[in-house]
Amino acid sequence: MTEHYPEPRMLIAGTWCQGEDGRTAAVLNPATEEVVGRVPLASRGDLDRALAAAETGFAAWRATPIARRTAILHAAADLLTERAGEVGRIMTLEQGKPLKEARGEAVRVAGTLRWHADDARRAYGRVIPSAPGTLLTVRREPAGVIAAFTPWNFPAGSPMRKIAAALSAGCSIVIKASEETPGTACALAACLQEAGLPDGALNLVFGEPAEVSAHLIAAPAVRLVAFTGSIPVGKLLAAAAGAEMKPTLMELGGHAPVIVCADADPVTAARRAAAAKFANAGQVCTSPSRFLVHESLLAEFTAAFVEAAEAVVMGDGLADGVTMGPMANARRVKAMEELVTDAVSRGAEVRTGGRRPDRAGYFFPPTVLTGVPADARIMVEEPFGPVAPIAGFTDLDDALRTANALPYGLAAYGFTESAATAERLVAGFEAGILSINHCGGSVHEAPSGGVKESGHGREGGPEGLDGYLVTKRVSHLLG
Ligand code: NAD
Repeated sequence: MTEHYPEPRMLIAGTWCQGEDGRTAAVLNPATEEVVGRVPLASRGDLDRALAAAETGFAAWRATPIARRTAILHAAADLLTERAGEVGRIMTLEQGKPLKEARGEAVRVAGTLRWHADDARRAYGRVIPSAPGTLLTVRREPAGVIAAFTPWNFPAGSPMRKIAAALSAGCSIVIKASEETPGTACALAACLQEAGLPDGALNLVFGEPAEVSAHLIAAPAVRLVAFTGSIPVGKLLAAAAGAEMKPTLMELGGHAPVIVCADADPVTAARRAAAAKFANAGQVCTSPSRFLVHESLLAEFTAAFVEAAEAVVMGDGLADGVTMGPMANARRVKAMEELVTDAVSRGAEVRTGGRRPDRAGYFFPPTVLTGVPADARIMVEEPFGPVAPIAGFTDLDDALRTANALPYGLAAYGFTESAATAERLVAGFEAGILSINHCGGSVHEAPSGGVKESGHGREGGPEGLDGYLVTKRVSHLLG
């Protein structure tokens, strides 16, 4: 192990700590499969301390004047921006993405924090016309203690979306970030703590995921459950929260269709879609993942997509010139191998990639499949990796039916030169996030989230703050 990896700790009641019973788990560098550090795992006692701290932290934080709260969050964003290089290096070591992407993510989440901090200053209530002598108002208040759970694909982005919205709303939070990428979460928490956040307003824990979520969700102190991750786990957590009548925000998986219409430029569409497909090695919930291309453009689109796939430089994310790192863990490589084998057994053709290289690390190359039948697993299961299945269509309504046939509805993409066709796609896609003629990522100002099994609630935009506020109607008979 040559690179320095700061030892992950939990942050409970303003103190960095190990778990009380000393349990830990290994953190691996996915580019080398080497252990880079060990993450502490919380006991029930640790979680109870975090919950008690979050209750105290909530009282202190909600009582802090809004201008001071905003100043603290901006100061944390400044620290994070200053430290983006170091945070990015930690992220690459534990998650694998290229250093440039990792640094970019650290800078971006500083922006997430700034945006939410400023937006919270406009969390207006309203005064409603009422009978003389009666003051009828609507107030918006922080929901309380939040329990949040985040995955490993965006080690900074996922936790910060929840932390920023919760703290900006005046809530406190106990967050269990991924045990596979704990170092980045610790770096974010350190910025907030050093910026002056009251003890207990943010508590960061790690542990056995099922154990931690069961304990936190059932705890009376917790008022809202926020999760980003897979649909099966989201359903489990939503059911557990439902049993306690607690609201949830669920940011789950998808299987984003890309429809390339007959009037689109196939080369531009292929280049833009491929750039998005291979970002973060395809481990993005909004990654374009089913390519439905008009038959007349199929050959040209496929050729340009294969060219873009072959131009990707796969390697250790710390090395210069690398544009795609390894997959974040061994589970994803196995999943890619299974999806490709299944598609090929049903008649698909591998146009490039398709095989794990003979080297250490969880690498799987950019892969393009054509002639993929609709019942191949990769056409119905979220790949969450750098494998792109391409299929042809002749009728746009059929393509939309195929796009909407799955139980997911997170992102969808369309390419067309016609404004009328674009509107047909916008109206037709069942998804919470649409992009036409590009596959751009999320922005702070606008909400992201899904429909159908992709979840509910939104992150980003004013809607992102709404999720962490409760509405109180107050009718005051004066005099
Ligand atoms: P997984 O389903 O086991 O876990 C997904 C995430 O949920 C992980 O961060 C995990 O730590 C957490 N988790 C698992 N069980 C939990 C529990 N009982 N309580 C609380 N948290 C729990 O699978 P995985 O191998 O980590 O990821 C595989 C799939 O998850 C991917 O194929 C993708 O579909 C989905 N995923 C989605 C996102 C997203 O951004 N929506 C992110 C990561 C993974």
